[in-house]
Amino acid sequence: MADLTPMMKQYLEIKEQNQDCILFFRLGDFYEMFEDDARLASKELDLTLTTRDRTKENPDDRVPMCGVPYHSSEAYIARLIAKGYKVAICEQMEDPALAKGLVSREVIRIVTPGTVIDSSMLDEGRNNFICSVCLDAESSGICFCDISTGEFFASGFDGPDRVSHLINELGRFAPAEAVLSEEAFAEPDLLTALNDKLGCRCESGGAGRFEPAAAEERILRQFGAEARGTIPREKEAVARSAGALLAYLYETQKTDLSHINVLSYYQSGQYMELDLTARRNLELTETMRSKEKRGSLLWVLDHTQTAMGGRLLRSWIEKPLLSPVAIRRRHLAVQELLNSAVPRAELILVLKKITDMERLVSRAVYGTANGRDLVALSLALSYVPDIKRLIAPFSSVALREIFSNLDELSDIRALIDRAIAEEPPFSVREGGVIRTGYDAEVDRLRDVMSGGKGSVAAIEASEREKSGIKNLKIGYNKVFGYYIEVSKSNYALVPQDYIRKQTLANCERYITPELKEMESTILTAHDKVVALEYELFTGVREAVAGAVHRIQKTASAVARLDTLASFAEAAGKNGYVMPEVDDSGLLEIREGRHPVVEKVLKGSLFVPNDTRMGTEEERVAIITGPNMAGKSTYMRQVALIALMAQIGSFVPAKSARLGVVDRIFTRVGASDDLAAGQSTFMVEMTEVADILRHATAKSLLILDEIGRGTSTFDGMSIARAVLEYCADKKRLGAKTLFATHFHELTEMEEQLAGVKNFNIAVKKRGDEIIFLRKIVRGGADKSYGVEVAKLAGIPDRVIDRAKEILLALENGGPVKARGKSAPAASGDQLSMLDMGASRVADRLRELDVNTLTPIEAMNLLFELKQSL
Ligand code: ADP
Repeated sequence: MADLTPMMKQYLEIKEQNQDCILFFRLGDFYEMFEDDARLASKELDLTLTTRDRTKENPDDRVPMCGVPYHSSEAYIARLIAKGYKVAICEQMEDPALAKGLVSREVIRIVTPGTVIDSSMLDEGRNNFICSVCLDAESSGICFCDISTGEFFASGFDGPDRVSHLINELGRFAPAEAVLSEEAFAEPDLLTALNDKLGCRCESGGAGRFEPAAAEERILRQFGAEARGTIPREKEAVARSAGALLAYLYETQKTDLSHINVLSYYQSGQYMELDLTARRNLELTETMRSKEKRGSLLWVLDHTQTAMGGRLLRSWIEKPLLSPVAIRRRHLAVQELLNSAVPRAELILVLKKITDMERLVSRAVYGTANGRDLVALSLALSYVPDIKRLIAPFSSVALREIFSNLDELSDIRALIDRAIAEEPPFSVREGGVIRTGYDAEVDRLRDVMSGGKGSVAAIEASEREKSGIKNLKIGYNKVFGYYIEVSKSNYALVPQDYIRKQTLANCERYITPELKEMESTILTAHDKVVALEYELFTGVREAVAGAVHRIQKTASAVARLDTLASFAEAAGKNGYVMPEVDDSGLLEIREGRHPVVEKVLKGSLFVPNDTRMGTEEERVAIITGPNMAGKSTYMRQVALIALMAQIGSFVPAKSARLGVVDRIFTRVGASDDLAAGQSTFMVEMTEVADILRHATAKSLLILDEIGRGTSTFDGMSIARAVLEYCADKKRLGAKTLFATHFHELTEMEEQLAGVKNFNIAVKKRGDEIIFLRKIVRGGADKSYGVEVAKLAGIPDRVIDRAKEILLALENGGPVKARGKSAPAASGDQLSMLDMGASRVADRLRELDVNTLTPIEAMNLLFELKQSL
């Protein structure tokens, strides 16, 4: 290392401390990367790779280097973060002009996917969570934090199912990054969920992060003495995971985190649990196929006006409540808002104007907020009185509470309005950010500067007069500062005391001592005012940061109000009603609708349906009916109505009475685990196994065509056994909607208590079927598969043939091959198929099954398959 340049030595020392990060090393106006970082970044960011001296002596020994301009670094950092890297930002800690020798440098922050704070890298409509997981032999702890808003949640699960509960919790928060204890990192299911399903960056262990003693100390340091006992003593794993998360935040943020000041501990059982499959299947926040918000439940319900409300609505959808009292509180607030259309419309107009206070105040705490941010905050706060006025008449508990939590923060607003310019520049280091009248010294220095400008004109006038040069001009450039410019024709008139500085083609430029003196006064004043303004600005920013708690409280009240108003809007626009939620275990829905499908169909095309479940007689509904009849729509509709009710929303129905559902399980269609190399049937059975293991009598099960992925008899047997298990009160007794093509299962109604048959009605008119979309009692008479195939556009020839085959099968007779003499259209795929099939049929006809050995049978099967 001896002969390295001093800067390279400094670089390597810092890099040594930050080996798992890409080091952005500040060099003047650039962040430079060296060695492997440079190679990686040049590839990932398409940057040109250059080199730089490694040693003083040998100019040929060079290090690979690439860089990005500091002012546009955010976009580059964002791209690296999105790819799952960590970026360490290393700044110059002193002014290079003033530094003696090498400028000192330090890593001031490590940016990671879960600790992004710059607004350009964040989606305003969703939280960006980082989490930590601590796994013990019997217990576990899990914490989530969004450092851009300051929220911090902690929970934990004990017992043999703790890993699956943890995974469900991770699905709820969808963190961008996870810090895992070594045991957690060694848990394959957890890792698969994090890496493959949630696309989350994982960080393992880390010396001391999960230490129990340190955890306690960090929790108290961060959340204050009030936090003592928030996490119950016996929940050591929870405390350890909180400690680890704080440790990681301290390591990476290296700054004040006073906006993270409330530790919210919640117990399992407070929210409806939903696994990753159910979240995906029910399309709560994005659609299954395109992963877009459009077409999801969130899309239908989201009429929020503020970023804070948008995030809260999303999180409410992710965590439906279980307490009828808490649910009713939201419903009553929605009802009040719904019933007062005029104040609501006004309220919405006011909310629309409110910026993201939550993230603004976080930036103030971080010291990254600029003048514009503070002005935006003050403007947002200026609407608080309007909001209070509009909601003052309301009497529901939730709205009263919001009212009392809204703090007008007039002191903070007054300070910002007094101190910060009306339209401050983007930069806080170039002056112009402090308002005139706030600080006498700033005003004086500004006078000097503008007085200076006045004197430029004054000097110009007097020099013109003195010299008699009419077109004499005073100009300014970076090299010479202020100068006097005289055109060629007037050279003879130039006074003796002018000092020539520059000769151009048509003019010459001079200075005078008087001019230089004026210049120095102006420039000094400028430097002074810029420094002073920055100091004053940081003072104001710190005062704002000091009010973080109050601002957060207000922001969260605004968010809740916005979300409740959004429910009211959705209810008004879509004709929802207030459901009655209790602990009865019943599901009684009159004229229920699917919130998304009805929206997509528009108008009154959607056919409403009733549901009644959860009584002794009706626990399990077996639903038959052709494909496309509307079975899955109906089943999802029931699940979504229950879920909507429990997040506090009104529901698409004429009326609804709903017993709280503790979990919704879904088993629907093929899942994308197929990519992970499991067969459809295996995936299906694993999901069913999971459901049967975790469901309770209060759960709602949506099972779509179980047993499809294997032979008919196998499939039917499994389906039946599963149904029996679900229906049996002594075993599960959960409310179950079961769609199936196995018509044989409808016999169960007669044999088992609690099972009822339903089908979705269709009407046959000649060859066509008409979907009535109405659910009715009883099993479907037939499948109408052929008719649906026709609807789907299968060629008539195939349809006709299918009908022939079907008829033969229904009559129990053999299926005759199509006449060989039928002329085959040349090269037609269809006739190829026909020919293959008829060859197979011929072979089968000739065969004597009784004399076949198993091996021969296998070989024959193989041969037949080949000939198709
Ligand atoms: P299945 O599960 O029986 O194959 P789906 O539930 O997928 O059928 O429904 C097929 C289509 O029928 C849906 O995409 C929807 O457009 C329409 N549909 C379903 N239910 C209704 C309804 N109640 N009213 C109007 N259209 C419906």
